[in-house]
Amino acid sequence: MTRTGVVMWLGLCLCAGCTERASTSPSSSDAGPRSPDAGPVVAGPPGAHEVRADVVPEARVDPSRTPLLDGKAVRFTLSLNHGHRGLSSLSATLGGRPAATARFSADGRRWVVLGNVPIATDDKSAVLRLDGTFVDESPFVLEKSFDIARAAYDKRTIHVPKKYVRAPRKARLRAAQEKKDLARVLEAPHPERLWRGSFVRPTATKETSPYGTLRTYNRRRRPSRHLGWDLDGATGDPIRAAQSGRVALVQDRYYSGGTVVLDHGQGLFTMYFHMSAFDVKAGDTVTKGELIGRVGKSGRVTGPHLHFSVKLGGVYADPADMLALDLSDDPDDVAPLSLPPGMRSKLTPAPASDAGVQ
Ligand SMILES: [Zn+2]
Repeated sequence: MTRTGVVMWLGLCLCAGCTERASTSPSSSDAGPRSPDAGPVVAGPPGAHEVRADVVPEARVDPSRTPLLDGKAVRFTLSLNHGHRGLSSLSATLGGRPAATARFSADGRRWVVLGNVPIATDDKSAVLRLDGTFVDESPFVLEKSFDIARAAYDKRTIHVPKKYVRAPRKARLRAAQEKKDLARVLEAPHPERLWRGSFVRPTATKETSPYGTLRTYNRRRRPSRHLGWDLDGATGDPIRAAQSGRVALVQDRYYSGGTVVLDHGQGLFTMYFHMSAFDVKAGDTVTKGELIGRVGKSGRVTGPHLHFSVKLGGVYADPADMLALDLSDDPDDVAPLSLPPGMRSKLTPAPASDAGVQ
């Protein structure tokens, strides 16, 4: 779809539920004949969900970027006009993968959806599907396709100790078990939204290696993708939760070293690798900005740093891009705890280097 196509679509109602509601709602069928100057008819309980019978029901979806980009999450804002009641619930998928949803207005007419596009996908477009329930329990369905363009990612050769390129058998068995442990956590996200507002930086330090780089270790032929964002740091530097949620995993792992995984609900996770110390335990509730551990150089690294990654809908997203996403209009947002200057979601641009690996 061209940009023009998207603009043309915005403002139109493509929702089967909407069309149905416009013809079956008590606000239009029970009100009887009305004179042109009779003013709006209010149906249902007065207050937040008043429906204006003289307003054509309309639903619009505004993506935070068009086209979508591979490897990057995207915010969609769903807005229903006053021809609709509000929605009491909403679930979503993007490209068939679960997306996170949040009510951003008390009347249920404004919702935000966070979707994710896999890096290096061959798909040229992805369908956003919204399934909701109006407050009167009638259904809301909306589907729309968005174009996907390819983002630019670097290629690099990295040198690490041989034992990390071809791990000894004992280590491979250990790593295989740890992979299962992580998969078990990621397959069972908290069903409710625990995330609140914009993300915050987990450290106040600069980037040492970006997300998405195609890396070849020690000139081996098969490259691998760097699916996190490396932030500089000295051993012992504080690491803070980038989002509110629950501690899903605390583990010392072969490749990722001291590891914390936070579950933010609805399939949104953040992960923190190579830590030297933990300040949380599995099951803890954390508020964004809260201290969760310390920078270290455990696992497959060339030096102390934080490898930070974000997973949404089963695929990794660009953490720097996620931090730049404006979610500050979330009415349920919480003030980050004891957050030093420089760790708000505003990014500090810095030249990339190879000071830290994975
Ligand atoms: Zn990394």
